[in-house]
Amino acid sequence: MSEALNGQCLCGAVKFTATPVGDTMGICHCGMCRRWTGGTFMATDCGNSVVFNDEAKLGRYRGSSWGERLFCTACGSTLLWQTQDGANQHVSVHAFDVPEKFRFESQIFIDRKPDSYEFVNETKNMTEAEVVAMFAPSED
Ligand SMILES: [Zn+2]
Ligand SMILES: [Zn+2]
Repeated sequence: MSEALNGQCLCGAVKFTATPVGDTMGICHCGMCRRWTGGTFMATDCGNSVVFNDEAKLGRYRGSSWGERLFCTACGSTLLWQTQDGANQHVSVHAFDVPEKFRFESQIFIDRKPDSYEFVNETKNMTEAEVVAMFAPSED
């Protein structure tokens, strides 16, 4: 997929375009994402392609030393997670007009998922330890 897609928050104060790098989405089951979204964060990798039309109502929450969560300060909608330098942006598929475009490929922090539900899709799953090992800088 290399076409720019339109997205927006619930109230429409924040609108943006983004170009997903692929046609897949992943879910994060970590406690921060669940609290932030009120569900599960279903996101697609958009590289650094997100362009906002107006940032007046754009809120930023830095939940860790390297990541930040962007949302609408008027309606509270979850929009995207990004590294603080903006180089890696993962946009909520539900912020787009066409969330069905994305194939459900992976689940991370699978060991943080509450036992009370699970998705039936066959996906590639990673635990918290596996995710940390993949992204942590090497010691040398
Ligand atoms: Zn809004
Ligand atoms: Zn998460």
